[in-house]
Amino acid sequence: VGSRLIADLQGALGTNRVRSRPLELHLFGGDAGTERGEVLAAVFPKDGRQVAEVVGVAASHGVPVVTRGTATGVAGGAVPAEPAVVLVTTHLDGIEIDAGSRMAWVGAGVLNLDLTRKAAENGLYFVPDPSSRAASTVGGNVATDASGPHGLAEGGTASHVLAVEFVTASGEILTAGGAAPDATGLDVRGLLVGSEGTLGIVTRVLVRLVEEPPAVITVAAVFESLEQAAAAVASVIAAGVVPAVLEMMSGNLVRLIDRFVGGLRTGAGALLLAEAAGRPAQVAAQVDVIGEAAWQNGAAGVDRAVEEGDRERLWTARRSSFPSVAQMGAGFRDHDVVVPRRRLVEMVAEIGRIAEEHRLEAYTSIHAGDGNLHPKFVFDPEDTAAEAAVEAASTEIAVAALRLGGSVSGEHGIGMDKRDLMPLQFSAADLEALRRIKDAFDPNGLLNPGKVLPEAQT
Ligand SMILES: Cc1cc2nc3c(=O)[nH]c(=O)nc-3n(C[C@H](O)[C@H](O)[C@H](O)COP(=O)(O)OP(=O)(O)OC[C@H]3O[C@@H](n4cnc5c(N)ncnc54)[C@H](O)[C@@H]3O)c2cc1C
Repeated sequence: VGSRLIADLQGALGTNRVRSRPLELHLFGGDAGTERGEVLAAVFPKDGRQVAEVVGVAASHGVPVVTRGTATGVAGGAVPAEPAVVLVTTHLDGIEIDAGSRMAWVGAGVLNLDLTRKAAENGLYFVPDPSSRAASTVGGNVATDASGPHGLAEGGTASHVLAVEFVTASGEILTAGGAAPDATGLDVRGLLVGSEGTLGIVTRVLVRLVEEPPAVITVAAVFESLEQAAAAVASVIAAGVVPAVLEMMSGNLVRLIDRFVGGLRTGAGALLLAEAAGRPAQVAAQVDVIGEAAWQNGAAGVDRAVEEGDRERLWTARRSSFPSVAQMGAGFRDHDVVVPRRRLVEMVAEIGRIAEEHRLEAYTSIHAGDGNLHPKFVFDPEDTAAEAAVEAASTEIAVAALRLGGSVSGEHGIGMDKRDLMPLQFSAADLEALRRIKDAFDPNGLLNPGKVLPEAQT
């Protein structure tokens, strides 16, 4: 298969768009998580037609296609579960902004931050802002339904995608959704968002852009414990205020971040970052409510950042939580669960209890507003007992999230990493229905097989 497959791919795309040297294949075999897989060829199509050509060639050789943005995913989504052609989207890179309609057609391989910068030239921005925005692609954000701090008030990626152009397993180029205020028919767009490359290959998306707010203030409050910070979040929400952003970090994480990039007040047990955005009077009122909620729940200090530079320093620090922990050791696991907002205090306590039982230290960042929690663990990969403890703790954390009415993944996706947890959340009948949808889109199982859905129990 090998050399004929490469020759056919080169015939379809041109030699320069196909990579097959051992080092190149190795480079495209992993993502930001721990899984690795076997790559038969890495290809860089330039448009939807070339994507369709790749699907046709792969199908004729009976090999799967795994779509890859920039592989910042941590769940093994872009890692082949079996030998596959890896289709890299980074050359699908056009951006067409229609400022009047506040929409943009964006190539799947455009980096999130590049779209944000381009939109800013028109006083607009793209709401989904994962911490990986400088490195992750819009197509990857769509495929994982990524979220970020601003997902709280405005929703995750799904809320900002109006249409998806995608290539099917049989090589057709289809568009689901559109610019019209209400797309009729089945919501295929909705199915594609979050489908992790298992239903189709996203080539372009039509996204919604929103106007930059006239006033923004960031509040940074420090507490003795994460529980107190979570209680302050509950008080803010109970007061009927939904700030633009509500983020929390455990004190040990704050110390690591401060050592890595600086910019945070250390020495406390937890940090709450809240941002109010909108008209100046509304922002001032929200900041008062947030400050009051913080003091009432035992804050040891509350600071306000008004200048853009001061706010950006705080957010740069927040976005550095993953690398601050990852650089500590060779073995690293960034977990991702979600619970209803009102159960945050309990979930924080559960993470503390589970980590202690396994003698682990959890460095936890939390999108408090939407209930996503990311406990991070470091370990020595040579130490099999330590690795097993992290695995066991991660499963117990997922089970605890389910018990509190949450989900086994908040925003990173299921990929390979969490597919065996799916039966904890879904019944056999639910999973069978999901499998039938997958079969309808991809009857021969050629699009990112071995992901999301666990093996069928026969
Ligand atoms: C430091 C760091 C911080 C992070 N912070 C966040 C965060 O705040 N919020 C968050 O949600 N995630 C976060 N992530 C996870 C990751 O960045 C997101 O899941 C991101 O959306 C992945 O984009 P990508 O281009 O890297 O996709 P990849 O990792 O390349 O792929 C991810 C999945 O999407 C599929 N896919 C990619 N492109 C397409 C396409 N065009 N068509 C079909 N399928 C496709 C792949 O097959 C795979 O299943 C973080 C990761 C890191 C390393």
